[in-house]
Amino acid sequence: MRFRSRWLAWLCLSLMLWAAMAESTHSHANQTEAASCSICMVAHSTVPVCSAHQLTPVFATIGVLSEEEITAKAQPGIFELGIRGPPEL
Ligand SMILES: [Zn+2]
Repeated sequence: MRFRSRWLAWLCLSLMLWAAMAESTHSHANQTEAASCSICMVAHSTVPVCSAHQLTPVFATIGVLSEEEITAKAQPGIFELGIRGPPEL
């Protein structure tokens, strides 16, 4: 079992190396032959195409900010227990 998987791994690796070498070293005598070559067709079809496009931002008013004057309702520090409060700094 172990020998078989190792042999299969070497076979796959050698096939991959052979295919890479064949793809990189093959050449064509003329352009018509290159146009019908499946290796060249696949090589040129994998060129990444930029499909992203930039969206233009849309600026629209979604509301109006209105300021209201807020008055804090401050109360003097009166303790209900009748003891002196903490000293102020
Ligand atoms: Zn080719």
